[in-house]
Amino acid sequence: MDLQKFGKKAGKKKDELTAFLQKLDEIVPEDMPGLVDKTDAGVWSEVDCMACANCCKTMTPTYTPDDIKRIATHLGMTAASFKNKWLEQDKDNGDWVNKQQPCQFLVDNKCSIYEVRPADCAEFPHHNKKPFDEYNDTFIQNVHRCPATFLLVSRLKKKVEKEYEW
Ligand code: SF4
Ligand code: SF4
Repeated sequence: MDLQKFGKKAGKKKDELTAFLQKLDEIVPEDMPGLVDKTDAGVWSEVDCMACANCCKTMTPTYTPDDIKRIATHLGMTAASFKNKWLEQDKDNGDWVNKQQPCQFLVDNKCSIYEVRPADCAEFPHHNKKPFDEYNDTFIQNVHRCPATFLLVSRLKKKVEKEYEW
């Protein structure tokens, strides 16, 4: 996947897609869950995370206390030494996040702690969260970073604007 090309294309469309997601907060089509599921299935038949990993390269997961314990144990470390080595607290909300980007656990474009990765990573990019529109702020943050979210939101925009009074 050409992430540079994707970044340029998504950067140009970001404002337009953000405006759509913000409006979707107010006007939610009745059959939105079905529409999202169907559109999302099409997206994943085209996007291959193994050839991308842009989330691991450009964002950080939030680590819960359970994540920290599980991953530290997996690595043979204490939670305190794990936090000290790899994490810092977000200045705004105190969440535990990576100190560095790309993520230290990304090796050869793959997650080296896949079986014990943070829940945030396992749930990313959150397309199947219900109701979809409650996660609009998350999608707004990710639409120019995650090719799958970009495709999903672009296609939803096209369908919703064509088929509904908008
Ligand atoms: S823990 Fe694994 S899945 Fe999560 S950001 Fe790091 S490399 Fe990616
Ligand atoms: S979730 Fe999105 S950003 Fe992460 S690897 Fe898959 S397509 Fe790329």
